[in-house]
Amino acid sequence: MTATASNDECALKWCNEAGEHTEHRQYLTSLVAWHQTWLVGVNVVQSGGEPLYVELTATTRFSPPATVTLRPDEAEAVGQALIEAAARSVR
Ligand SMILES: [Zn+2]
Repeated sequence: MTATASNDECALKWCNEAGEHTEHRQYLTSLVAWHQTWLVGVNVVQSGGEPLYVELTATTRFSPPATVTLRPDEAEAVGQALIEAAARSVR
């Protein structure tokens, strides 16, 4: 029974998906934010032979998830802006 368990793991070591999947995905973080109203996730994704990209997801209990797809340099710009904004908001 347990002998088939390894077949569920993806051939790519960094990929967290199991079983059949068309997009490889690594889940970096998933956190509940702003008075428990938002679920924010950051993933690295690869679809087919395309280059890897960053996926930013935001979900509330009352709305479907919003997904923002970013190139690595765009994700870096957003990340730096978030760090800057966070620093300014605690001054
Ligand atoms: Zn995979």
